[in-house]
Amino acid sequence: MGIFRIVYFSENHLDYDADGVEAQLETILKTSQSNNARDGVTGALIFDDLWFIQVLEGDRETVWKTFDRIRSDERHHSVTIVDARDVEAREYGEWSMGLITRNADTAAILEEFGPNGKMNVRSMKVEGFLAAFRRSATVGSAFAA
Ligand code: FAD
Repeated sequence: MGIFRIVYFSENHLDYDADGVEAQLETILKTSQSNNARDGVTGALIFDDLWFIQVLEGDRETVWKTFDRIRSDERHHSVTIVDARDVEAREYGEWSMGLITRNADTAAILEEFGPNGKMNVRSMKVEGFLAAFRRSATVGSAFAA
């Protein structure tokens, strides 16, 4: 069976008056990992302060169902699909959801994707998003478990 993949970006709308951002990210990650493991969905999530960028892979119907849940989540908004297509194989088969954040190692990579070190997601094409995931994934410390 083929693999379906969605890539989207969205604007961070985490509640900065509530728990720390890290705790909120951890909640999102835990829910994602347990739901995705149940549903056979894999992927990765970049959190770069202003933006979330996510790749979701799996069965077409399940990926759309997952995406529909994610899209209505108030912790982000302006969810924008960059690409949705069948692909030959999973790239993130080991990750029910890997979280990539800025750290000393990933910053230099993420800073390549826009001026002044800010990712310029509105003008990026799908190849750019995939490159950001692939390059970050080569950094040992990129994925928070
Ligand atoms: P629930 O039982 O409804 O909630 C699970 C946990 O999340 C609970 O601890 C609850 O307190 C907390 N929670 C839920 N909504 C909020 C909220 N609005 N504010 C604060 N805490 C809240 N879900 C996936 O299944 N797979 C993914 O890959 C995935 N990726 C995501 C990426 C981003 C950027 C964001 C913002 C969310 C993502 N989610 C993902 C979460 C998704 O939007 C839904 O919240 C989740 O799928 C609901 O699952 P549930 O019904 O099992 O969880």
